[in-house]
Amino acid sequence: MNKRVAVIGGGLGGLSGAIYLARLGYQVDLYEQNQQVGGKMGEWQSSGFRFDTGPSLLTMPFVIEDLFESSSVDLRDTVLPFIPIEPVCRYFFPDSSILDTFVDREKMRNAVNAFSPQSAEQIDQFLNYSKRIYDITHDLFVTHPVHEFSTLFKIKTWTSLLRFWQIDPFRTVHQSTKRFFDDDRLVQLFDRYATYNGSNPFQAPATLNIIPYVEFGLGSYYVKGGMIKLIHALEKRAKYLGVNIHLNRRVERIEHNDESVQGLSVNNTFIPYSNILCNADVVDTFTRLVKKKHKYDKLEPSLSGLVFLWGIDRSFPQLAHHNIFFSDDYEQEFRQLFNTKTAPLDPTVYVSITCKSDPSHAPEGNENWFVLVNMPYLTKDQDWSQIAVQTKKTILSKLEKYGLAIKNHIVTEKQISPPDYQTHYGSNKGSIYGISSNTPSMAFRRPANRYKGLKGLYFAGGSAHPGGGIPLTLLSGKMAAELLHKYSI
Ligand SMILES: Cc1cc2nc3c(=O)[nH]c(=O)nc-3n(C[C@H](O)[C@H](O)[C@H](O)COP(=O)(O)OP(=O)(O)OC[C@H]3O[C@@H](n4cnc5c(N)ncnc54)[C@H](O)[C@@H]3O)c2cc1C
Repeated sequence: MNKRVAVIGGGLGGLSGAIYLARLGYQVDLYEQNQQVGGKMGEWQSSGFRFDTGPSLLTMPFVIEDLFESSSVDLRDTVLPFIPIEPVCRYFFPDSSILDTFVDREKMRNAVNAFSPQSAEQIDQFLNYSKRIYDITHDLFVTHPVHEFSTLFKIKTWTSLLRFWQIDPFRTVHQSTKRFFDDDRLVQLFDRYATYNGSNPFQAPATLNIIPYVEFGLGSYYVKGGMIKLIHALEKRAKYLGVNIHLNRRVERIEHNDESVQGLSVNNTFIPYSNILCNADVVDTFTRLVKKKHKYDKLEPSLSGLVFLWGIDRSFPQLAHHNIFFSDDYEQEFRQLFNTKTAPLDPTVYVSITCKSDPSHAPEGNENWFVLVNMPYLTKDQDWSQIAVQTKKTILSKLEKYGLAIKNHIVTEKQISPPDYQTHYGSNKGSIYGISSNTPSMAFRRPANRYKGLKGLYFAGGSAHPGGGIPLTLLSGKMAAELLHKYSI
């Protein structure tokens, strides 16, 4: 067995893959093009404010515990203090109504009952349905490499496949939420979960209705000190296990013959490897690093996003840690995002204020606002500087209607737009979650963790199986590492 492997990219998928490979006894060289690891999960500090630049919500913390081989008590108390967030989110609707959602089922039922009495029972039915999808799919689609023939021989696979119709793959997310809820506001609220992997609720299979159970059934967390603490802990763990992390090292090519990988070109130098775990975007890898024809560029990318980080010199007690301000016409918003691929005229606005849970993130009496609106993936006709200026105006006037006049209170600001995801992390067309899950085949057959067309090439990250988001990306690193180990013996 050749024990030396390369990892391309130090995002969550690459760090996870590197850690699992090191645990399996490999000597791992990780190459990251930027001056720090973490990829889309970053941090920005300015004038006494600190901001997460990417993820703000942590789910499935047991995936992290597995990575650290640590009991929850150890990990949560010392290395990574996970803070449970209640309410999980505060939703503001165009008709001025407000709903807080909770992990605690009793609190959730009461909140929904007060908001929309006819929906109190429907919420229970919906969350039970969401849990059923999780129970059936978790083993087959989330924790196993579904493209591997060996997965088919597992008894649990057959149990899942026999119950396939119960995971609701033939309706769209929206068609199913409409079946559960009479109140259109709750339909909109639960439709939004399709955007957690960058998809369109009016097209994506209802199997994505698994996501609410992940958030409400398994818990919603923040990491005290900032989400960047997770990256620091992973980096430390990787180094402790002997992973060599090379920063500012852009991989220019994956060298290969017709059958297998031969090594990497980094800074014009050839370095031989017979096994490579790639955390770079799958489409970008085939297009620029492998230079091989592939089918993935025909698949629709997921959503991108426009982020504003605003330090605000006052506080808003009416807001929670996570807040959503919905658009008036959700279907139109998605037509603009996916059909015309233009910025939504009335975007749904997400505002995360981490100093609500960790006051050290902003000077006293001030708040750190992370503001995100969904955006289409990159096309030739978009002018992002103009879109950003217009969208900022739209957001500010929208928030003002909710009594949040912040325009004259922004004391520091940073903006991250779709081209940044492409330029800084190599994300295909600026997409945040790889390909979208807008059809059943795209949802269930994401790019595999082992590329069968070239021996020695494995993929980990949000653009590969099982998908984007913190826990799935970490799991993809585990699957890719285990497959590499299995096939290199
Ligand atoms: C604004 C935003 C909000 C989000 N919110 C959440 C959330 O609340 N909860 C959640 O779970 N998820 C969320 N996500 C999604 C989550 O951040 C991603 O799914 C995850 O971070 C992706 O990790 P990755 O390893 O796949 O990719 P990346 O983070 O893109 O890492 C890939 C790495 O590879 C490097 N690389 C690429 N090409 C090369 C090369 N040729 N040579 C060397 N290095 C290379 C890049 O520089 C990068 O560091 C959010 C994402 C964004 C952008």
